Amino acid sequence: MSELVIDDLHAEVGGAEILHGVSLTVRSGEVHAVMGPNGSGKSTLSNVLMGKPGYEVTGGSVTLDGRDLLSLPTWRRAQAGLFLAMQYPTEVPGVRLDEVLEEAFAAAGRDRGLVGARLGAEADRIGFDRTFLERPLNVDLSGGEKKRNDTLQLGVLAPRIAILDELDSGLDVDALRAVSRRVEAATKEGIDGGEPLGVLAITHYSRLLEELHPDVVHIFARGRILESGGPDLAERLEAEGYAAWLADDDAEAATDDPVGRAVVDDPFADPLV
Ligand code: ADP
Ligand code: MG
Repeated sequence: MSELVIDDLHAEVGGAEILHGVSLTVRSGEVHAVMGPNGSGKSTLSNVLMGKPGYEVTGGSVTLDGRDLLSLPTWRRAQAGLFLAMQYPTEVPGVRLDEVLEEAFAAAGRDRGLVGARLGAEADRIGFDRTFLERPLNVDLSGGEKKRNDTLQLGVLAPRIAILDELDSGLDVDALRAVSRRVEAATKEGIDGGEPLGVLAITHYSRLLEELHPDVVHIFARGRILESGGPDLAERLEAEGYAAWLADDDAEAATDDPVGRAVVDDPFADPLV
C-alpha cells in the first residue's frame, strides 16, 4: 500500500507564488480528480511533484511512502514509484520509446528483456499501433497518439502513483475510452502483479471520469483546493461551471475563460475532437 502525501505545498514559478498551500493524499487504488480553470496552477502542481526545473518550492512537504520527494531529482522520484503524464508530452528525436523503457527498467534493477513483450501487450490493449514503438519518442505523433504513448509507458513502467495532467485532451472518443479503461483497470488490479495504482487525474471533463471512476473530486482554483467531495462534484461543475466556487466578483472572469478551452489551447490537439 503506497501513499503520496502532499502537505501545505507552496511553490513559485517566475517569481510569482502559484501554489498557495495544497494538501492532498493519494493512496493505492484511489482515483483523485483535480478539476480547475485554466491557469489555476494544476500543471504547476504536477510539475512540482515530479521535480521539473524552474519551480521553487517555498513551503510544505511531499512524501511517497514516508520518503521526502522534494529533495530528490526527477529520476529518483520516478524510481520511487511516481509517474507523470505531462499535459504536453515532449518530443525526443533520436531516442526510441523501447530504448527509454529498457533503460528505465535497467536503472531500477529490472530485466530489460521484459520490456518488448510488455510494450506489445500494452499497445494492443489501448489500440496503439505497434509501428510507433520503434520510432523516436513522440516525434511526429498527433496529440492523441502522444497521450496514448504516455499511457503505454505507464502500463510498462508500473508506477505506484500516477499523475495524469489532462490525459484526455486531444483524444478521440474511442482512444479516450481505451486509455481511461486501461488506467481504471490498473487502479483495480494493479499492473503486472503490483499493487493497485493510485491516480491523481487533472481533467476538465467528466467524460474521462465516466470510465476512470474518481473516489474524490477536488475543485482547484487560484493555486489551492476549494472543495473536495464525491463524484457528484464533477456533475455539479459540469452543470454550473466554476463560477459556483468563485467569489461573485470573479464569476464573470470565469465564464470568459470557459472550461472547454483546454482542447482548443492544446497545440497537439487532434482536430477531430
Ligand atoms: P493550469 O495547468 O491550471 O492551466 P498552470 O499551472 O499551467 O495552470 O499555470 C498557472 C499559472 O502559472 C499561470 O498563470 C501561468 O501563466 C503561470 N506559469 C506557469 N509556468 C510558468 C513559468 N514557467 N513562468 C512564469 N509563469 C508560469
Ligand atoms: Mg495545465
